[in-house]
Amino acid sequence: MGELRREIFDIVIIGAGPAGMAAAATACAAGAHAALVDDNGYAGGQIWRRANNARHGKSVLATRWINHLQRSAAGSGGLARLQQTRVVGMPRANVLLAESERGALEIHYDKLILATGARELFLPFPGWTHPRVMGAGGLQSLVKSGLPIVGRRVIVAGSGPLLLAVANYLRHAGAIVPLIAEQAHSAEILRFAAGLARTPAKLLQAALLRGGLIGTRYCADAWPLRAQESGGRLSVTLQIGKRRRVETADYLACGFGLVANVELAALAGCKFARPGCVAVDDCQETSVKHVFAAGELTGIGGVEKAIVEGQIAGLAAAGRTTQTARLFGNRDAALAFTARLEKAFTLRPELKTLAGPDEIICRCEDVTLGQLTIGDGDQTFHSLHDAKLHTRCGMGPCQGRICGPAVAFITGAENDLRIRPPILPARVATLAADGGA
Ligand SMILES: Cc1cc2nc3c(=O)[nH]c(=O)nc-3n(C[C@H](O)[C@H](O)[C@H](O)COP(=O)(O)OP(=O)(O)OC[C@H]3O[C@@H](n4cnc5c(N)ncnc54)[C@H](O)[C@@H]3O)c2cc1C
Repeated sequence: MGELRREIFDIVIIGAGPAGMAAAATACAAGAHAALVDDNGYAGGQIWRRANNARHGKSVLATRWINHLQRSAAGSGGLARLQQTRVVGMPRANVLLAESERGALEIHYDKLILATGARELFLPFPGWTHPRVMGAGGLQSLVKSGLPIVGRRVIVAGSGPLLLAVANYLRHAGAIVPLIAEQAHSAEILRFAAGLARTPAKLLQAALLRGGLIGTRYCADAWPLRAQESGGRLSVTLQIGKRRRVETADYLACGFGLVANVELAALAGCKFARPGCVAVDDCQETSVKHVFAAGELTGIGGVEKAIVEGQIAGLAAAGRTTQTARLFGNRDAALAFTARLEKAFTLRPELKTLAGPDEIICRCEDVTLGQLTIGDGDQTFHSLHDAKLHTRCGMGPCQGRICGPAVAFITGAENDLRIRPPILPARVATLAADGGA
């Protein structure tokens, strides 16, 4: 059995994205002895990943929060930064099981702030498993990590404001982005754009993004139908309004919005306001006492929502509950934006029929969409758990994190996959060190 290290803190924050950074800096400023745990080597989460080193896209907001964080780590209370440390389970109350290069680790806490962010939603269509078809944010991450993109032609497709951010980043990094295919209805996009006038910061952000995309076509009512290899390149067939169009490209960067990483919250026993959205009170406290949630896991809403919720959670966890009220106005504005975002980028029903019965839906276990129907195909499983038991869909290393939301969207089945530790792939030595987690 491997060695198990132990660390003890007042407050533990999981996730060093904008929500977790804001929570950590705020809690430390209030005098707490806290730890910020993240599985990446750098703080910043998905949006500011490697912002310290990046050639492109280091925003004023990123600089501000990275500086706050560095001051908190150097301050008298001292923020412990546990980087490249992945939390895989919660073996008992107030204890987390984690692993890093140094082996297994038990992290003990009085208060816990979950800021675990989100991942992309992938929907299957013919060719979606081709190696040059990637998540939009996924391709961006690879480029941030060094994938050469100069002069490469990239079609960006799917849904949500992330597409604009990714296209902009790729263009600045030297890629050619001829087209962004947004599945949402053009009328909804126009309404959403007009509504940005209510949030001047967002309006400016959108204008800057669009300004960086001169020469790139933005098509609403557009989505990918097929991607296939053609003469060493990718041939992408797109539905654009009532027309079909074929584009050649080196990559198709495609994501249909975001899905919150709620597995730890589920393991902790937190109640959900609705699927994929953890219920919290005014102080961001979940239904489990002393467990708080901030950022994408209380609703997909972007960086400003993540920061203000992180600040409120950090203050409340540090016992400064009365000081949280001054931030409620900002949070209300962020939540109103979240609601508009959700309405504008609702996924259209046509996307449910892109994949035929032979299309792989669970990449870990090679389960096809056709296997998710019984008999003559007119009876579908009613829940993902049911589908998992009968077909192994969701039983592989990702434990349904990728295929689960796609199956739920396509079939309308209830996403009732039971969350069991380890919530992420873990070494046997880690599990053994903790006596089986
Ligand atoms: C792939 C991707 C790319 C994105 N790119 C952009 C962009 O370019 N521009 C933009 O405006 N928005 C982008 N977004 C959206 C952006 O992430 C959100 O708007 C917002 O910033 C989320 O902040 P957060 O703190 O809630 O979560 P995140 O920024 O997602 O941070 C969560 C952190 O928690 C860590 N984590 C999760 N689970 C564990 C665990 N078990 N153990 C340890 N660590 C864990 C994650 O690795 C991550 O670092 C992107 C989202 C995704 C999914």
